[in-house]
Amino acid sequence: MVKINQNYAKLPGSYLFSTIGKKVREYSEAHPDADIIRLGIGDVTQPLAPAIISALHSAVDEMGAAETFRGYAPDLGYEFLRNAIAEQDFKARGCDIEPDEIFVSDGAKCDCGNIQEIFGLDNKIAVCDPVYPVYVDSNVMAGRTGTYDEAAQCFGDVIYMPCTEENGFAPELPGEVPDLIYLCFPNNPTGAVIKKDALQAWVDYANKNGSVILYDAAYEAYISEPEVPHSIYECEGAKTCAIEFRSFSKTAGFTGLRLGCTVVPKELTVEGQKLWSLWARRHGTKYNGAPYIVQRAGEAVYSEEGRRQIKEQIAWYMGNAGIILDGLKEAGYTAFGGVNAPYIWLKTPDRMTSWEFFDYLLSEAGVVGTPGSGFGPGGEHYFRLTSFGSRENTVKAMDRIRKL
Ligand SMILES: *Cc1c(COP(=O)(O)O)cnc(C)c1O
Repeated sequence: MVKINQNYAKLPGSYLFSTIGKKVREYSEAHPDADIIRLGIGDVTQPLAPAIISALHSAVDEMGAAETFRGYAPDLGYEFLRNAIAEQDFKARGCDIEPDEIFVSDGAKCDCGNIQEIFGLDNKIAVCDPVYPVYVDSNVMAGRTGTYDEAAQCFGDVIYMPCTEENGFAPELPGEVPDLIYLCFPNNPTGAVIKKDALQAWVDYANKNGSVILYDAAYEAYISEPEVPHSIYECEGAKTCAIEFRSFSKTAGFTGLRLGCTVVPKELTVEGQKLWSLWARRHGTKYNGAPYIVQRAGEAVYSEEGRRQIKEQIAWYMGNAGIILDGLKEAGYTAFGGVNAPYIWLKTPDRMTSWEFFDYLLSEAGVVGTPGSGFGPGGEHYFRLTSFGSRENTVKAMDRIRKL
């Protein structure tokens, strides 16, 4: 008889975005004239930069000519892309990362979810709370997290590291030593960052205790403050304890095109085995590679023109973040983030639950955001707004919120 993977049955349903959709639908049916503004968007909205479009067009033409046609991409990704990443994301920042330590992929979500496959099932994971749900969910699917406690909204065998207003949404080093530590800075959903000395403390902790850090740098391009590291490899000793995920999704608008990469340094060993070799084995077997066309588009992100265009795009999004932060401040809210990340994390007024605040904002202002509790129990009494809306809607939403 066929059996399912029972671990999947342990996953709490993905209620967050379906519940939001249902509530918004019900509201607009009851108020057909309501002008609803969505500031909960977790996806980029600006079109791809011209330099990227032009690279895509030429790559498409290459695929149509016998002399320049390409079939399967190399396992690690094309050298032209890995060289550009190594040079500009790492060497230019003083990080000693070689092109062949970079594994090109079709995005960071898959890699964040799949990396746990190269680790044994009896490893204990630690995650920030609140955080992007992929880290916990993929470990649930693998059977590494124990059982779900409905009341506490926690898995028994996961170390949740509280990220609160008191600690500036930067977790403290855990007392119980985890094997795998997921860190994400700039953070989704809090927009928080940590400075280099704080990240160095994590690297030292991991090296001392034999833990591995899984560092998600998906939002590094939004960093505006000079003392915030863009890569964990800016820290001394990170190559012996850290894997890093990077993505072209939020930094260059590739959410629909799909491109990312994972860095696994050659010095990183566990039980005498190079994690590089394990990941290379997995990559060669379970991964088809990112399309040639898309890798050429990724290369264009690193051209002079591409860099300039992408910088402008991010500055535009961050203009929205500034409008949201100013509006919330004027309206008397306590808000965080929005400086090094496209996310604004606000405290609900009067200890409203995050869903109560969702209903309040929708019914009183016609504005849709994301309840913080959807990102973990530590997100309760918080709410996420994003800077991916249109300028006009962002301004309008903040006008409405100011008038509440
Ligand atoms: C959006 C996002 C990603 C990017 O995932 P892709 O698969 O590259 O689109 C990775 N990590 C976090 C925290 C994100 O919010």
